[in-house]
Amino acid sequence: MAFEGLAERLQSTIKKITGKGKVSEQDIKEMSREIRLALLEADVNFKVVKDLINRIKERAVGQEVMESLTPGQQVIKIVRDELTELMGGENSKIAVADRPPTIIMMVGLQGAGKTTTTGKLANLLRKNYNRKPMLVACDVYRPAAIKQLETLGSQLDMPVFSLGTEANPVDIAKQAIEKAKEDHHDYVIIDTAGRLHVDTELMTELGEIKKIANPDEIFLVVDAMTGQDAVNVAESFNDQLDISGVVLTKLDGDTRGGAALSIKAVTDKPIKFAGMGEKLDQLEPFHPERMASRILG
Ligand code: GDP
Repeated sequence: MAFEGLAERLQSTIKKITGKGKVSEQDIKEMSREIRLALLEADVNFKVVKDLINRIKERAVGQEVMESLTPGQQVIKIVRDELTELMGGENSKIAVADRPPTIIMMVGLQGAGKTTTTGKLANLLRKNYNRKPMLVACDVYRPAAIKQLETLGSQLDMPVFSLGTEANPVDIAKQAIEKAKEDHHDYVIIDTAGRLHVDTELMTELGEIKKIANPDEIFLVVDAMTGQDAVNVAESFNDQLDISGVVLTKLDGDTRGGAALSIKAVTDKPIKFAGMGEKLDQLEPFHPERMASRILG
């Protein structure tokens, strides 16, 4: 299960302090040290950890008195609030364009789960919001990628716009949007090409698609299992494309949690969805508060 090690460590740290009727500065110091080590071990960004621990310490030492909670419980509440805030506070919703269709551009490295997530997102938009999405195959470099999207489209019984591998991705995006307007689709989800590493050529192409498509959302898909690499990838994509949010995939796997806990602080862009498995219905809105509860028990 994701976050298992981190959850175990934080919960045992917290147990020591929960019941306390009195919490000394020494207790807080000790707890902060343990939380710090647990987070670093979970591969959370070093600076993110440092800032978080400082905030927890500051608030816990000068804590406001709340009658309903014991001092120990109050300290725990501070930790919970700060972890929630770290992951983005409230869940942020998906954009809706003033005039349809709403355009969503999916970007990310190869293997992160971009194409699968494109299908999952379309499924979620139809199921939860009664929308009528159209999928667009802009990864012209791998014939298998187009085929994969078409297979997802037929599984979902949703149209996939493709012009094969010979066309230019920018033209595909442009024509797809025109077609979506004609056919009254209210969402267009563009699956773009990935690479093994961030490279200039890819970024230039994505920049051109962005220019022509003028997307309401640019979702970066990253693999939670890759920890700090995912955070570095998010930083690069955000610098180049000014993404609007992140989809964190493979949270059903054995991830330590570093990506989930660092991305928002490093990029200032929210995690909007979490991939919880390979199936098309396994995409969930990302709720920082629920995630914090999962970690803290
Ligand atoms: P792309 O290259 O970024 O388009 O990646 P794909 O969509 O082809 O996904 C790569 C692999 O990751 C596939 O085997 C997917 O089934 C798998 N995958 C994607 N999302 C998830 C997820 O949330 N959980 C799990 N366990 N596997 C996922």
